[in-house]
Amino acid sequence: MTDICYPKSAKLLSVDDARQRIRQAISGIDDHQRIDLGQALGRILAKSVTSPIDIPPQRNAAMDGYAFSSADIAENTAFTLKMVGTSWAGKPFEGTAGRKQCVRIFTGAVVPDFADSVIAQEQVYVVDHDITFPSDTRPGKNIRAAGSDVRKHETLLDAGKKLRPNDLGLLAAAGVDSIEVYRQLKIGFFSTGDELTPIGTPLQAGQIYDSNRYLLAGLLNDSAYAVTDLGVIRDDRLQLEETLADAAKNFDMLLSTGGASVGEADFVNQALEKYGEVNFWKLAVKPGKPLTFGKIGNCWFFGLPGNPVAVLVTFAQFVKPALDQLAGAPAHATIQLLARCESALRKSPGRQEYQRGILRQTSAGEFSVKAAGPQDSHQLKVASLANCFIVLDKDCAGVDEGQMVIVEPFDTRI
Ligand code: AMP
Ligand code: MG
Repeated sequence: MTDICYPKSAKLLSVDDARQRIRQAISGIDDHQRIDLGQALGRILAKSVTSPIDIPPQRNAAMDGYAFSSADIAENTAFTLKMVGTSWAGKPFEGTAGRKQCVRIFTGAVVPDFADSVIAQEQVYVVDHDITFPSDTRPGKNIRAAGSDVRKHETLLDAGKKLRPNDLGLLAAAGVDSIEVYRQLKIGFFSTGDELTPIGTPLQAGQIYDSNRYLLAGLLNDSAYAVTDLGVIRDDRLQLEETLADAAKNFDMLLSTGGASVGEADFVNQALEKYGEVNFWKLAVKPGKPLTFGKIGNCWFFGLPGNPVAVLVTFAQFVKPALDQLAGAPAHATIQLLARCESALRKSPGRQEYQRGILRQTSAGEFSVKAAGPQDSHQLKVASLANCFIVLDKDCAGVDEGQMVIVEPFDTRI
């Protein structure tokens, strides 16, 4: 394959270098707030949380059955104990019991002090209050010790954790009803372009609907963010400059789409240069070459390309990690899988590509992938059909059928 792309790409920043620049530039916000646990899903923990109690708080039964003392076990022979009461979940046995006695017990119920073992109800033979235990009864079974999940004062969650349902369950199990989280990131976004028409309005000649704001609103749907849609800005230098300068005062991060390349009506870079600092512009990535990163006052800025699929790619690869970092979350690794390519893929060397693919898992457990369709950066239907990016290194000159490729699933379900 020819290397005609190399000279053209010589001035383009590599994906890794761009990520490194973003990492070095951004530090996390400092402000935090206390919120109720019920509001905490998806928020980022600002302070580590320790458990005020043992979990479980008391020794309890792991199944429905009978609690007894192992001192009553008869070696290799069945034995019978007298049932003297019941321990329910939430209503412990209050009587006394001792040798040759047992207590009916249910899952989660407190194990009475005299007992050190529980046997499942299916394993015993019951006649009135006489419970006969089998010859192979073992001591010490089916009991969850107090603190066997978490010890009192043990760390439940470290600062920086983005709270998932499992985490909320854990905090609730410890009785934690409010936590310190970083405040929501204030994010503003707008589209640029004279051709853009809001949905709900008939198209005039030369117009298209503004899809990027819907795409971005979806990508930004995260409870760690407070997001403001700033609408469409016309291809007008002054209006763009005013919008940037104004919005920068109100947001932690500002995102624009379109107007970021070198056309007559592409004013984003000029405006950023005038009111802020450009960190980088133009990446060796496809789609998404005209991606601008910089800062206006205290507000970070990404000027994303106009083409919707380029928005999708640059958001996932650059903006999302930047937002995580700014929001106080530690860097995450994106899942990358190796998949067998079901058909050849076209690619010229020079830029790292994120092609839109359809990933599937064969009955043997192997992953295989195919292109979701043609790969132009305006083709949203293909992006909608896709469930993964196929990541092709900048030097890659095409993929043959059957070759292994790296894929990044959009989701854990495919
Ligand atoms: P630009 O970077 O402004 O030259 O835009 C590149 C391409 O993306 C053009 O075909 C635009 O019409 C298209 N485009 C820009 N903004 C949007 C948008 N918000 N929704 C859909 N397409 C857009
Ligand atoms: Mg434009």
